[in-house]
Amino acid sequence: MTGIHLPAIDQPQSDALVDPFGRAISYLRVSVTDRCDFRCVYCMSEDMAFLPKADLLSLEELDRLCTAFIAKGVRKLRLTGGEPLVRRGIMTLFASLSRHLDAGTLDELTLTTNGTQLPKYAAELKQHGVKRVNVSLDTLDPDKFRAVTRWGELDKVLAGIDAAQAAGLKVKINAVALKGVNEDEFPALIDWAHGRGMDFTVIEVMPLGDVGAGRLDQYLPLSMLRARLAERYTMEDLDERTGGPARYVRVAETGGKLGFITPMTHNFCESCNRVRVTCTGTLYMCLGQEDAADLRRPLRASESNDLLDAAITDAISRKPKGHDFVIDRRRSRPALTRHMSVTGG
Ligand code: SAM
Ligand code: SF4
Repeated sequence: MTGIHLPAIDQPQSDALVDPFGRAISYLRVSVTDRCDFRCVYCMSEDMAFLPKADLLSLEELDRLCTAFIAKGVRKLRLTGGEPLVRRGIMTLFASLSRHLDAGTLDELTLTTNGTQLPKYAAELKQHGVKRVNVSLDTLDPDKFRAVTRWGELDKVLAGIDAAQAAGLKVKINAVALKGVNEDEFPALIDWAHGRGMDFTVIEVMPLGDVGAGRLDQYLPLSMLRARLAERYTMEDLDERTGGPARYVRVAETGGKLGFITPMTHNFCESCNRVRVTCTGTLYMCLGQEDAADLRRPLRASESNDLLDAAITDAISRKPKGHDFVIDRRRSRPALTRHMSVTGG
């Protein structure tokens, strides 16, 4: 299998991660690369500068980091990016992390992807214990798709979705709502996704990073979209909370599940159970705040995990109550300077 040296599986410790507001941290998202084969207009600028390779955690270091969080009670792990499946050798990381599924110390190993590499990797992901994937797809119109992703081809993503379903992976589609771009396409997207047995989630555009376009031009409040969808569909609120920012409804006409992620018009922080680590080992306790902790230094400082464990515990004790996102109408500048592809969506 791998050349990766695997740290031992520790039993969950009694010092499980609980933040100052009593929220237990059970969900870790890890960005494994800042690179991507697309340049989506809301996510990256066309001429993104990427991190030097030396700054990135190696696959072994990523495994060690994830393992340290799992030992502290993380039960769900999502790999993201950038595009996680363009990271060289990424299957060795899935393979090594799958031991935690086998051991019962991890409930779910999953990923968010743009789908282009799924024809190559779907079957292998399934073998490594991945059951579900989130695929991002904002439009079914090939020209719009090219315009939104700048570099992408719709057919490749559709082939990726086919491959994932053929491999037995459950697929959820995520779409960012973009004013004047896909706002009229949601009924078609919902019918298509639900018709193929896939849940569908709409995401409100968030002000992360300078992407070279005015945020106000892109921003479509989901309250408006939801009101429009309500004219067409019967939407029954579902109670389920994932600890995440999505609120779900069942669409009576299709039988499918529809989610709304509304960081701007709604606050979802009170039940937040998650933190994020970047591909350089920076831990962000909140997607919408600047405060961060460097885990790379303690990780590299010694082979034992003592320093790393202490840095993680200390960081969680600083997890803020919530985010401060505002689309600033006067300045129209991003609320945070880092891009989504750095923190990981
Ligand atoms: N490349 C993968 C993908 O596109 O699925 C994973 C990383 S991407 C950063 C994760 C998710 O973040 C995608 O669904 C993308 O649409 C979303 N995203 C990126 N920038 C965003 C922004 N400014 N506001 C809201 N969602 C954003
Ligand atoms: Fe790449 Fe995903 Fe960002 Fe699009 S949203 S540029 S696919 S990382």
